[in-house]
Amino acid sequence: MPPTIAIVGRPNVGKSTLFNRLTGRRAALVSDMPGLTRDRREGEAEIAGHAVRLVDTAGLEEAAPGSIAQRMRTQSEAAIAAADLVLFLLDARAGVMPADAAFARLVRASGRPVILVANKCEGRAGGEGFYEAFRLGLGEPIAISAEHGEGMGELVEAMLAALGLEPRRKPRPRRGDEEVPREEPPAAAAQPIRLAIVGRPNTGKSTLVNALLGEERMITGPEPGLTRDAVASDLAWAGRPVRLFDTAGLRRKARIEEAAERLAASDAVRAIRFAEVVVLLIDALHPFEHQDLTIADLVEKEGRALVIAANKWDLVADRRKALENLRESASQRLAQVPGVPLVAVSALAGRGLDRLMEEVFRAYATWNRRVPTPALNRWLSEALERHPPPAAKGRRIRIRYITQPSARPPTFVAFCTRAEALPKAYLRYLANGLRAAFDLPGVPIRLRLRRAANPFDDD
Ligand code: GDP
Repeated sequence: MPPTIAIVGRPNVGKSTLFNRLTGRRAALVSDMPGLTRDRREGEAEIAGHAVRLVDTAGLEEAAPGSIAQRMRTQSEAAIAAADLVLFLLDARAGVMPADAAFARLVRASGRPVILVANKCEGRAGGEGFYEAFRLGLGEPIAISAEHGEGMGELVEAMLAALGLEPRRKPRPRRGDEEVPREEPPAAAAQPIRLAIVGRPNTGKSTLVNALLGEERMITGPEPGLTRDAVASDLAWAGRPVRLFDTAGLRRKARIEEAAERLAASDAVRAIRFAEVVVLLIDALHPFEHQDLTIADLVEKEGRALVIAANKWDLVADRRKALENLRESASQRLAQVPGVPLVAVSALAGRGLDRLMEEVFRAYATWNRRVPTPALNRWLSEALERHPPPAAKGRRIRIRYITQPSARPPTFVAFCTRAEALPKAYLRYLANGLRAAFDLPGVPIRLRLRRAANPFDDD
């Protein structure tokens, strides 16, 4: 008898989507157990080589409204009681609703093993709802997007661990969070890194894109309005697939209608949202102008990995001195991303491109890094010992525990008494410490505070 996994949660959190994703839509079948028909779906799925039975309580959502609450409750209770493992789903965008809390109580009361799943976390790391989820007292949530197949690798790992199973099938190499069991042909396993090249007008973006693509695929030159239709080009660099988003093409296309300045900004926003890694191209002769810094700021805010390329290096006379100055300015003006990689290139001469792409791949890896919880907590106790948090109103603020619930960018949550009283400077101390201890240069990192779960701990 394969283990049974129940997917539980209030309506519209995405239970069916997750069910379909895990069963691959193929195995879904409706149970014909009398009385329970239409109220739940059951299906077979294979998880890392293990057969499991999945039960989804979503059918209820189409049931007659009057009886919904009661039936949903009965139904969920039945599904939970029959399950070896419960996936408790909530909508991270909506946050924790009273109904979530009610379902969470059911799950907790059952004493069944449970995995808290924060759904609808695509793109950005889920927002406040994700952090609120800690409040439910069901442990650390796993951020996924059932719709987009993100976070599935991590969910599968957690399911295996909860069921005490070892993966039988060697999991495919994880590319970010993209692993989707069975639905993709193996060739698609290597997802391209999404890369955007952004910068002020005339820093040489088109020239760089051309150089990377290795052919005159984009038209650069003085004529306005020349453009290619596609805004994304695929290329392979050192055998790794890269999807390049080129804003220069976009800008040229629309230049006629809009003011260049505004456009440059909106292009950059679009490109940054699309990208995982952003190359900010600056002009080595006029580095770190206002707009460069604005774009760098945007990259940090959007949580993308940043690499700075100083272009037109062929025009620089004293290169050693120039590089020194650039590094100095970078560390002063881009304090929000200490250690950001900086590469000198000449797009025109095709120089420095290998180094640039090496930094892109490295930044991507850093951005995806996950630090194991024990290592984090060892680090935390040392950091606290070195500089204890200040006292607030005569009482010490305690930081008890830290975890990294998600990557892309690395995001940490520290559980803390009187989080609101902890000075920003102390948070910066911790964030910088994390960066140094776990080798996370150049990528934005998020460190959030949450109240320690147990109110009696709150001394
Ligand atoms: P974009 O507006 O950022 O796309 O900039 P373009 O790629 O159109 O380049 C603007 C100008 O800078 C063009 O005249 C390019 O030939 C020139 N340019 C681009 N890269 C380099 C470089 O590495 N060295 C030099 N000397 N000129 C460059």
